[in-house]
Amino acid sequence: MANELILIVEDNEKNRKLVRDVLQFKGYKTIEAETAEAGIQLALTASPALILMDIQLPGMNGIEALGQLRANPATRAIPVIAVTASAMTHDREKIMAAGFDAYQRKPIDIKEFLAVVREVLDRSMTHT
Ligand code: MN
Repeated sequence: MANELILIVEDNEKNRKLVRDVLQFKGYKTIEAETAEAGIQLALTASPALILMDIQLPGMNGIEALGQLRANPATRAIPVIAVTASAMTHDREKIMAAGFDAYQRKPIDIKEFLAVVREVLDRSMTHT
C-alpha cells in the first residue's frame, strides 16, 4: 500500500514538484514545506509517516532540523530521509552519522528513490 502521508521539506520549487509528482503518482499523499522551521511545525501538526529532508535550506539546515525532530517526543519516531545535492563521500558520512534513516542524492533516481521510500516506511511500521 502506498497511501501514507509524506512531508517534503525542500526549498527548490522544481525539486519539490518532481518529488511530489513521483510520490503522488504512486498513491502517496504529500504535504510540503519550504523551510526547516515550517517543516518541523507541519511534522507536529500533520504527523506524517515519513519526512524527506533537503539539507541545504534557508535558515536552519536539514541536519539541525533532524536534531529538533529527534529531540521532541512527538516527532522522534518519524523516519527522515536526507535528500541532498552534495554527493561527496564525507558529506554522505556526515549525514548518516547525524541519524537520518536513509540518504538520497539529487537529482533523484526515481526507481531507487521510490524503493528507498517504501523500504524506510516498511521498516518503521514494524517498529510501531
Ligand atoms: Mn535546498
